[in-house]
Amino acid sequence: MRALARRLARLLELGVLGIALAALGLPSATAAATLTGTAHVQVDAREMPRGILKVHLQLPVRPGPLTLVYPKWLPGRHSPSGPITDLAGPVLHSGTERIAWRRDDVDMYAFHLEVPAGASMLDADFEVLTSPRPDGAVYGLEAPRTATESLAILEWHQVVLYPADSNTDELQYQAEVRLPAGWKYATALRGAQEGPHGVRFEATSLTTLVDSTLLTGRYFESFELGGSPPVRLHVAADGAGALHLAPETLEHYRRLVAEAQALYGPAHYRHYDFLYVLTDQIMPDGLEHHESSDNRSPQRTFLDDDVRRAEANLLPHEYTHSWNGKYRRPAGLATRNYQDPMRTELLWVYEGLTEYLGDVLAARSGLLTPEEFRSELAHDFAGLKTHSARSWRSLEDATIAAQLLYVQPRDWAARLRRQEDFYHESALLWLEADTLIRRLSGGRRSLDDFCARFLGGTDGGPGGAPTVRPYDLEEVVSTLNAVQPYDWRKFWEERVQRAGAELPEAGLIQSGWRPELTAQPAVMHRAHEADDRDTDLRFSLGFYVSDDGTIEDVIPGSPGDAAGLGSLDRLIGVNGRRWSRDELHDVLEGSLRGATTVTLVADKNGVYRSVDLHYDGGPREPHLVRVEGSADLLTLIARPRASAAH
Ligand SMILES: [Zn+2]
Repeated sequence: MRALARRLARLLELGVLGIALAALGLPSATAAATLTGTAHVQVDAREMPRGILKVHLQLPVRPGPLTLVYPKWLPGRHSPSGPITDLAGPVLHSGTERIAWRRDDVDMYAFHLEVPAGASMLDADFEVLTSPRPDGAVYGLEAPRTATESLAILEWHQVVLYPADSNTDELQYQAEVRLPAGWKYATALRGAQEGPHGVRFEATSLTTLVDSTLLTGRYFESFELGGSPPVRLHVAADGAGALHLAPETLEHYRRLVAEAQALYGPAHYRHYDFLYVLTDQIMPDGLEHHESSDNRSPQRTFLDDDVRRAEANLLPHEYTHSWNGKYRRPAGLATRNYQDPMRTELLWVYEGLTEYLGDVLAARSGLLTPEEFRSELAHDFAGLKTHSARSWRSLEDATIAAQLLYVQPRDWAARLRRQEDFYHESALLWLEADTLIRRLSGGRRSLDDFCARFLGGTDGGPGGAPTVRPYDLEEVVSTLNAVQPYDWRKFWEERVQRAGAELPEAGLIQSGWRPELTAQPAVMHRAHEADDRDTDLRFSLGFYVSDDGTIEDVIPGSPGDAAGLGSLDRLIGVNGRRWSRDELHDVLEGSLRGATTVTLVADKNGVYRSVDLHYDGGPREPHLVRVEGSADLLTLIARPRASAAH
């Protein structure tokens, strides 16, 4: 998964619903049970644009007590966010006999029942009802919206039940799906056969089914990206025009495959499918799978250069996860099924290293120019600098509490909360590790060598079926030591485990570049403003404003903070005129000529007030500037490695 965009801040306020249970008085079944054969899941996805999935599930079972569970801990989401409040059902039958169930009193995802004597099959019917609101709650107990009038993302975890205490690698499920008429589709599932009731795929483990999201759409196009095993890009958009992928961008995606394989070594998939939706109706996001990834960007990503730049590291990030996250996985995340809790303390490796490598691969493949790559790092660092929570909360605490951070409100983000800093902060720490290896080895080795050792194993054979090799901190440290002897344990302890650790600036400095705020326009600052649809004045007046005037966050110690602005104030006016992005930028330009008082009119819950901000700093946007006399390692890091022929 990737870090959430700022503009999602407002979408994330989460109400946890209480669920009233109807006590049926059934005995609680706790015995482990498993399936006696292959389960069949039939999904009618024709009404997904309305937010309705209809499911018929056939489970081969033995008579006796049985507990069925609905997936709770979702791989890649790192949180117990299975959309249980969307589950309408199940209604259970064995033959013609209705089977009663009773929900567990503690675990809301578990249903206890008794399979009658002589029965060998249990039928479950249910619907999954997703909110049609684009600003529905996300990552909580209901699913984010995943369908529009023209496309849909089918996540199989939403449509399955399975016996409690199972190992999902050992359960076999066969899926069949009816799609809206005329829509095309793509998925990493294989063996598709068209039948009267839709598309039927070959049976797989439940693990692989849940790991093989299906993308379908009316406006749909597929592109070959080369590679061995082969990689394809499938794009579904809300309009035909949005599918116009520029030839040079397609070439950059083809280079991404070559650069990733040059960096990581053998692939751990039999084929790989990028699933990419371009829509403004679904929250931008990315979710990794072993043999595919589920990528979601704004509709104009291929058409608008700023949005394209801002989204450039999405596919490199999710593709990297096939190696770092899926094949190699922290032991605490390599769980047996979707009910066992995940332990997320090593997300600074899972997500942080991936975030760094995603940026590096975006640069090596040409998706970002070297200047854009530097600008992206400057933007990430400047964002971290505005946050103050590191004074009480270590990076490790942010990783352990990831399940809270993904769903917390974004209001007051810059004050004493931490965000999912195991993305950007860890990425800059991995840059520091990279520059350290390069310096200590006299330029002979780099983090690329760590990646080849750590991510590039050949268990199962290159191109073989997906396998998982769990790791712990000890292996991270020992592999780094094998590449370049150093006290890596202390290196990470100081940076990850300590509250109040220094800002992650050292990697930038060692790479030959110093972060600075200047009045010059910064390419990625502008790109993210366009992508997030906001005006980002965090580094000058000290707040940012969404396109409807809502102040999303106020930076402690900034002029906006001193003037008493707060999250969710609504900006009405600037210096006696209706507020606009241009008015705010004019004010900043004017302040270059001397100290300025800016008068803002803000609306808080219907109460208008006027506030004066005193400012003399001009526009301030984040850049990297060369540290004179030092080696330019960043340019070396961004240099392509794959041969031109691929
Ligand atoms: Zn990720």
